[in-house]
Amino acid sequence: MKKNIFYHSTRGNKEKKLSSEAIVYGIADDGGLFIPTEIPKIKADYNQLKELDYNELAYRIMKEYFTDFSEVELKDCIKKAYNEKFDTNIITPLEKKMGVYFLELFHGPTLAFKDMALSILPYLLQISLKKLNLNKEIVILTATSGDTGKAALEGFANVPGTKIIVFFPQEGVSEIQKRQMLTQKGENTYVIGISGNFDDAQRGVKEIFENQTFKKKAERRNMILSSANSINIGRLVPQIVYYFYAYLKMLKENDIKAGEKINIVVPTGNFGNILAAYYAGKMGLPVKKLICASNDNKVLADFFKTGIYDRRRELIMTISPSMDILISSNLERLLSVASHGKADQINKIMNDLNGRGFYQIDPDIKKEFSDFYGECAIQEEAIQSIREVFKESEYLMDPHTAVGYAVYQKYLSKTKDITKTVIVATASPFKFTKSVMGAVDEKYKEFDDFELIEKMANLLQNPVPIGIKDIKKKSILHKAVCNKEKIKEKLAEILF
Ligand SMILES: *Cc1c(COP(=O)(O)O)cnc(C)c1O
Repeated sequence: MKKNIFYHSTRGNKEKKLSSEAIVYGIADDGGLFIPTEIPKIKADYNQLKELDYNELAYRIMKEYFTDFSEVELKDCIKKAYNEKFDTNIITPLEKKMGVYFLELFHGPTLAFKDMALSILPYLLQISLKKLNLNKEIVILTATSGDTGKAALEGFANVPGTKIIVFFPQEGVSEIQKRQMLTQKGENTYVIGISGNFDDAQRGVKEIFENQTFKKKAERRNMILSSANSINIGRLVPQIVYYFYAYLKMLKENDIKAGEKINIVVPTGNFGNILAAYYAGKMGLPVKKLICASNDNKVLADFFKTGIYDRRRELIMTISPSMDILISSNLERLLSVASHGKADQINKIMNDLNGRGFYQIDPDIKKEFSDFYGECAIQEEAIQSIREVFKESEYLMDPHTAVGYAVYQKYLSKTKDITKTVIVATASPFKFTKSVMGAVDEKYKEFDDFELIEKMANLLQNPVPIGIKDIKKKSILHKAVCNKEKIKEKLAEILF
């Protein structure tokens, strides 16, 4: 018998939703995030699982969560998501370098790990709408720190029955990230630069979801507002798959024995990717430590050390912009699991964060975090890591992955823990040519991001990835900008 999994809010609304409903609505009415009523366990024999290809494994994992999808429906979504759009048929290669395993999640169309979830989300959403008999237009609202925006645009462009609207911090993304978004084609795509940082963009978008008047107005026009941000359960679940895939690959290549634990290092921003690793662990994947790597914006590293989450600090702009975040939304899900679903605690924590700007968790919740290790690496350390790793192994890390690597080195020297370790490589170095090439050699500093694309290809003796080939020549199609206080007005202008 197939067991149904339902979803409810982290903030106390106990109403159970189907996965299709949680996917369509994105966020709960009380402002909480949807979490599964229980985390399913994978009981299968890993020696059999290791023979599955990526899509087969994706089905094996996702069917545990999307229990109201039929086999045909789910397999169809998976097939449409993970295919030739990726530049490798194994989808997420595992590269062994420098004594660690880099899990490369950047082989999709936009060259960052966001493609792993955003290539499938539009299909999950379309089927969910059909299942719920909702004959409505879906309006996807997204705040981006650089990579989500492009991946969501690419995923939703020209998908019938949808609009995709992206808000990005004008000064907070790399030149190539910005250009990728501004050149996006598709009648249903909107890209708006805001004055402000990612947190401002995310707050603006979240406020719209909590604004019942605005939502009602959209409903009257037969629209549903939804989110492509990592708060959507339809993003979280697909991200669990590659952690299993990496483990099974190591098993298959006899790098580990069945049941042997591994460490996983995740360059972290909004806490979505590492949360997926945590869920993988809860499902039975043998994980020893989840190493949460922060850049200069080390809110999370501090949190895991002290139990105090304190956003009262200046956001620092770095060369790893997708981690320049002070409010990591998905942490709420971890807190909910760790507090065993005590919604009053979560409400208090979230109120403190909004009102006072910080919160402290109880020792009994903190105890649940023993699987986590938080550490940070500042920009200079990341740059040095890029240089060193390239010099020793000719492996070129992007600045986010480099934060992960630098943090791991600190972990290693502090703990001497020799457990085999996977470092999640979240973006291609081709998205950040200026900072990466500048780190490799001073001589590249005189060139701009676009000139350096070709030079990076030469250095690596690899072709330029299709996603950014000729990007300089493409015309800019989106010119809208708005003040961070005016997100709602801008949106109303587009929609109503
Ligand atoms: C989004 C992103 C991150 C952070 O991931 P979260 O799930 O937000 O923690 C890290 N690196 C890159 C390249 C990203 O695009």
